[in-house]
Amino acid sequence: MNASDLRIQSRNLIGGQWVSAADGGTFEVIDPATDRRIAQVADCGASETRQAIDAAAGAYLDWSRRTAEDRGTILRRMADLMMRDQQRLAHLMTLEQGKPLSEARGETAYAASFIYWAAEEGKRLYGETIPASSSDKRILILRQPIGVVAAITPWNFPSAMITRKLGPALACGNTCIIKPAEQTPLSALALGELAIEAGLPAGVFNIITGDSSTIAGELFTNSLVRKVSFTGSTEVGKILMKQAADHVVRLSLELGGHAPFIVFDDADIDAAVAGAMASKLRNSGQTCVCANRFFVHEAVYDAFASRLAAAMQSLKVGRGFDEGVQVGPLIDDNAIAKVEQHVSDALSRGARVRTGGKLLDLGEGCSKRFYAPTVVDGFTPEMKISGEETFGPVAPLRRFSSDDDVIAMANDSPYGLAAYFYTRDASRLMRVAEALEYGIVGANDGLPSTPQAPFGGVKQSGFGREGGRHVMHEYTNIKYVSWGLG
Ligand code: ADP
Repeated sequence: MNASDLRIQSRNLIGGQWVSAADGGTFEVIDPATDRRIAQVADCGASETRQAIDAAAGAYLDWSRRTAEDRGTILRRMADLMMRDQQRLAHLMTLEQGKPLSEARGETAYAASFIYWAAEEGKRLYGETIPASSSDKRILILRQPIGVVAAITPWNFPSAMITRKLGPALACGNTCIIKPAEQTPLSALALGELAIEAGLPAGVFNIITGDSSTIAGELFTNSLVRKVSFTGSTEVGKILMKQAADHVVRLSLELGGHAPFIVFDDADIDAAVAGAMASKLRNSGQTCVCANRFFVHEAVYDAFASRLAAAMQSLKVGRGFDEGVQVGPLIDDNAIAKVEQHVSDALSRGARVRTGGKLLDLGEGCSKRFYAPTVVDGFTPEMKISGEETFGPVAPLRRFSSDDDVIAMANDSPYGLAAYFYTRDASRLMRVAEALEYGIVGANDGLPSTPQAPFGGVKQSGFGREGGRHVMHEYTNIKYVSWGLG
């Protein structure tokens, strides 16, 4: 696809209009696979954010009063257009994010699925009646939209992390402002174009790109913004929580994770290796639910480790557009530096590289952001890799011998997003699933994320759920009406 087929949009969407920054400022978007500049995108700030908030507030009354069927029809149309343009959106995503084209196509369909789901679920925002304690009263529960909702989203899923907020927020009758990650604004802006084509009224969906703390500063101090939904690092999540405190702004936080992956002695080893590969290598290891610590029972350790290493070695690493590529570049130089630091720290403390463990030089035209899929034997708790999110294609392994020990080790983390384990014993499966202090548990499943299920974490992985019917609670307020019959 050439540049004109991609229809790159570099301006912001405010009140249905495509606008540049008031001062004409722009920032660069880079292809992480080649270091080439792809676009100059509007570098907007507080005044444009204020305009977007005003536009969203202005559109709210009409949008919130429409029927769920009406909103759902427009949202479904938007998702249909995403599928019509799946190839183009996937190209844009691979260009700015680096993931293999097949994964980008998959993410586009996954992103559309959140909108399809929410468009239907919006019709089921049921209320309740509660028996009152006096015979001349009735108590009714209403579920109403919150108002203007803002979302701050990350670069690892440039489309899906937006739609899983946008879809339910709009389906519930809210209006939105999206602030995408500075590394991947183009996928977000492309969604804005499709929303307009689908007939979404002006101001219902606004997109602002630019300096994140300036934009967030306006979002958290403007009293028209009633909710902020954030997906990103725990570090930034904590900053936002402090900012939200001043105006008591409602929050959902989907933050970092440090997923344990447990292989019990009765596991189907081939299934466990397949699950480990799916969980570890999706997006080159750059997801908050990627397996980060592998605990393997001593009876099956060698079999699992050697099969995992063989599977890792067979992967094709390269530019996302190249035929058959399964692992793309990491997003930027900081990401590479972190992975290198985690591996060298582990080696200096006694771990051993079974495969990989190095930066790859893919020759002319390629950036220095390709890291070999890696298996490291013998990680221990004092290593960085054991406590911090690596966000790269590195699988650290260690042995265990008892169920109680491995559950304690798995839970020994400030994070609580996703955990995985493999066993064929149904009783053990239920016991372990209940004991893991995580919001998402993949029991014999390496890829549990799906639009029907409530995705989200506990502990420092945040709060709030995305997906399924539970997400609708994130975008509605409960009101009760106490009705005196007189
Ligand atoms: P990552 O480490 O994965 O890049 P971040 O938490 O830094 O995750 O970024 C996730 C999103 O949060 C991005 O849209 C980014 O621009 C935004 N962000 C980063 N720092 C801040 C901040 N201080 N205030 C508001 N948003 C921020």
